[in-house]
Amino acid sequence: MDFELDERQKELRREFEEFCLDEDNRRILAELADEGDYYNAHSWELFKKMAERGWISLNWPVEYGGRGYTPEEMTVFHETMAYHRMPIIALILSSLVGNVVAYFGSDALKAEILPRASAGELLFCLLYTEPDAGSDLAALTTRAEEDGDYYVVNGTKIYTSLGHLANYGLLAARTNPEAPKRQGISLFLLPLDSEGVTVSPIYTMGDGRVNEEVFTDVRVHRDYMIGEKDSGWFVLTMALGLERGSIAGVAAQGRAFLDGLIDLLRETGMTSDPVVCQSLAEMETVLEVSDLLNWNLTTLLGKGDVPITEAAMAKLYSSESMRRMGSEALNMLGFAGLLRRGSPGALLEGLSEYQYQMAPMISIGAGSTEIMQGIIARTGLGLAAKG
Ligand SMILES: Cc1cc2nc3c(=O)[nH]c(=O)nc-3n(C[C@H](O)[C@H](O)[C@H](O)COP(=O)(O)OP(=O)(O)OC[C@H]3O[C@@H](n4cnc5c(N)ncnc54)[C@H](O)[C@@H]3O)c2cc1C
Repeated sequence: MDFELDERQKELRREFEEFCLDEDNRRILAELADEGDYYNAHSWELFKKMAERGWISLNWPVEYGGRGYTPEEMTVFHETMAYHRMPIIALILSSLVGNVVAYFGSDALKAEILPRASAGELLFCLLYTEPDAGSDLAALTTRAEEDGDYYVVNGTKIYTSLGHLANYGLLAARTNPEAPKRQGISLFLLPLDSEGVTVSPIYTMGDGRVNEEVFTDVRVHRDYMIGEKDSGWFVLTMALGLERGSIAGVAAQGRAFLDGLIDLLRETGMTSDPVVCQSLAEMETVLEVSDLLNWNLTTLLGKGDVPITEAAMAKLYSSESMRRMGSEALNMLGFAGLLRRGSPGALLEGLSEYQYQMAPMISIGAGSTEIMQGIIARTGLGLAAKG
């Protein structure tokens, strides 16, 4: 396969890069980095600037204010943003939720959400995982009971990225407890300022923040339901596919890390050490394979395929590669590599410490490594592995 960018894609990359390298935008990024948590970072200022360029809604359908970008163009976007450490979680979530609302939302919901979201005024989060339902998401117990034109929501969600900043959450809740577990689930776009919603922090390794949301008798109008009642699993499967399709950003962050590492090791003369060179060569190879898997996935998505196996492979390999790179870098940098941004003597602005602590979480979010292996065994190899 030929993954060479065409002229339009190269032009887009230049346009995205220009934004990322803009002096004022670098200043905002540096301020965000000082807060320590790159993964969950968000800047409304940057987000609005991106919205002015139409970048929040790039791959939404054109009739809803999107630009109808192809998967290839989206990969160029995510790669460029991630390489320059732009906060991409909010972008990925806007692209995902915008598409879900455009395709499956009520007319009232589309009118309420899509113009404001594409203007960069709204943030979204995913309310899937529960204390007793993570990998086995269909075991979720959050209830949404019908009451006239409303549903009444009770339950708890955990590990929500951006839950403390989001205006709306894509909520998976059980609307029919009698049905088989995948058939009784519905999706809602829940306004998080509704009465009865409590959001609290959960701090992760590396001082990242995810969240817990408790819903106590939260009333949500039926217009906020996404798709048909009890058919949420179908939409959820599509949404998970969209999330895994945006994995290219992970490898691009790894690429930026390796480039910085090589520059640093050159400056210190360590690149004359054959063992260091072997490690760097290994990292380069791992990133090349990640890129190939990501572009293979992108190309299949561009053809309109539903590449479940390839999405799992790209997610599995890219996230596990981050772990390997984090450990390898620490082996080379020694104790100084463990110092955080802002500490005297910290190398690479603390990125090696951050990379090391963040990598395990990337291998859990959006489906863990073992779950990806199970998918590949089942859908790729036709084996009967459960997961
Ligand atoms: C940084 C981060 C951000 C996240 N953001 C969000 C978010 O925004 N919204 C949201 O809803 N969730 C989010 N999550 C939650 C994430 O999707 C879950 O953590 C993940 O699906 C795993 O679920 P669990 O934590 O309940 O672990 P469990 O499902 O309890 O798994 C525990 C361990 O058992 C293994 N395991 C489980 N089942 C099997 C099996 N069948 N075969 C083999 N091994 C298995 C898993 O791989 C894992 O190692 C986030 C998680 C992280 C780390």
